Amino acid sequence: MNKIAVLTSGGDAPGMNACVRAVVRTANHFKMEVVGVRRGYQGMIENDMTILSPNDVSNIIHRGGTVLKTARSPEFMKREGRERAYHNLLDNGVEALVVIGGDGSFKGALALQDEFGLPVIGIPGTIDNDLYGTEATIGYDTAVNNVVTAVDKIRDTADSHNRLFFVEVMGRDAGFIALRSGIACGAEAVLIPETETYDNVLMDRLQNGWNREKSSAIIIVAEGDDSGGAHKLAEKVKQRFPHFDTKVTILGHIQRGGSPSAYDRVLASELGSWAVRTIRRGTTGVMIGRSGGKAMEIPLSKAVKHNRSINRSLEELVYWLSE
Ligand code: ADP
Repeated sequence: MNKIAVLTSGGDAPGMNACVRAVVRTANHFKMEVVGVRRGYQGMIENDMTILSPNDVSNIIHRGGTVLKTARSPEFMKREGRERAYHNLLDNGVEALVVIGGDGSFKGALALQDEFGLPVIGIPGTIDNDLYGTEATIGYDTAVNNVVTAVDKIRDTADSHNRLFFVEVMGRDAGFIALRSGIACGAEAVLIPETETYDNVLMDRLQNGWNREKSSAIIIVAEGDDSGGAHKLAEKVKQRFPHFDTKVTILGHIQRGGSPSAYDRVLASELGSWAVRTIRRGTTGVMIGRSGGKAMEIPLSKAVKHNRSINRSLEELVYWLSE
């Protein structure tokens, strides 16, 4: 194996750059060349590729986003698009592909492998942490820390004014960010898509907090929660408890940006480097994840088929610790 390609795809995640760097530097260690594909699969279709030397990835380990850029590519969903993409890889002498992204990106990689026999390796890069087969995805730790930093500031105001804040965080289909940040911020409740939200249970909790004269309350709401989001919930609560001083904050994209945490940089470095070594061994069609604190491989087909389940004991913890 002399030449491999790397791309970032789907939503950007802090730590993707550290991962690209690890792929390039490890490949260089083994005297392999790396082609960087810009803008994910769309760039592959448009032949937007360049050789990445070890110097090209200097000074990026600490930068958020992705220097390779990322994109969503409807064209790649069709076989003709994938065929063009594959032929561009061939023309550039690429023998295997490393894809850093989420579930959708892995499905794309599997299609390339199944249709054209291209060896592919996936690396989990998404802030949502919703991939089966790994205890962490690149970007998740940074996103949680971004939420915690923001909510700590909100808590100061909430506490000073005896306010109830609904803070909406990212997570259309998964509540991992909400749950972890909720525990780290001492939230009074965490509402996530995986668990049905019962208005009466929430109202009772708020009433109890009021009776106990709690000085503030923070409710973390994942954007995909079945309650319909922070604004809707706040309206309902206002109707039931007009005397509550209720506020809503939607954290939005500040959760995704910024310098990756040390944890994400180390995770990205480990997984990126492992991916190159896996390719050298001739293994294909696997995701490099982390389990029990170590890098490990699981079939991509398994990673895309299953959903990662939420840790229910953490949900319970939120309630116990805010009582
Ligand atoms: P993520 O990787 O974060 O889940 P997306 O779901 O947007 O992000 O997927 C990224 C890209 O992967 C899509 O724009 C598309 O080009 C490609 N892709 C997604 N699903 C498939 C699929 N079933 N077959 C082929 N390509 C896919």
